[in-house]
Amino acid sequence: MAAAEIKKRKSSDIESVISGYRIVDLRELGRNLKCLACGTVLSLENIVSEKLLGLHSVLSVKCHPCGIITPVATGRTDGRFADINKVIVLGAIHSGAGCVTVNKILATTDIPGLPPPTHKRYERIVGPSAGLEVRVVIGNEDSSTMASAHAAATGMKIFKLADKNHLVKKFGKELYELAKVHKELGRKGVIDHIEKELQLRRDAE
Ligand SMILES: [Zn+2]
Repeated sequence: MAAAEIKKRKSSDIESVISGYRIVDLRELGRNLKCLACGTVLSLENIVSEKLLGLHSVLSVKCHPCGIITPVATGRTDGRFADINKVIVLGAIHSGAGCVTVNKILATTDIPGLPPPTHKRYERIVGPSAGLEVRVVIGNEDSSTMASAHAAATGMKIFKLADKNHLVKKFGKELYELAKVHKELGRKGVIDHIEKELQLRRDAE
C-alpha cells in the first residue's frame, strides 16, 4: 500500500472504521470491550472512530446505556510498541519480504498497513536479534571453546548450550563460593539439597 493511501486511511472516517479486516488479540479485545464509566460490555457496532497505529488499533466505542466513549485497544502494547506491529515486522525480516511486500499483502486483505516510517521504527526494536545470524555452540563451559567460536564467527550472535551435568557441577562450585559470604548456604546439607533439586529438575526435562 502506498504511503499516501495509508495516510488517507488514518483519517478516521466512519466508513473505514467499520469496514475491512483487522488482526486483533481476541482475548485482549474482549477484555477491553467494557465501558470505563459503567462497566457495560461494549458493542463493536458502536465504534465512533479508530486510531490506527500500524496494525494496532485503538477504537473509540460508545456505551449504549451511558453514552460515554471508551478507548478500546485491539491488542497488547508495552506502552510504546504494539505487539502485533513487532511480530509483523519480525515476520517481514525473517521471510525477507520487506515492508513494501508486506503492505501489499495487507492491502489485498483489506488490513490497514504499516507506514514505512513506523516499519523502520519497529525494525530498530526487533532488528538486532533478527538481523544477525545466530549460532548455538554446544560445549562444556570451556572458555577456550567459546573464545574460538567467537573468533570464527565475527558479527554473529553466539548462544551457549552447555552440557547439563557440567552446569550442575559448576553451579555447585559457585554455591560453595557463595557460602563463604552467605553463612546460611554453608549450613550442613543446604547445598546438597539445592544440587539434588537441580538434578531432579534436570532429569525431568
Ligand atoms: Zn457506560
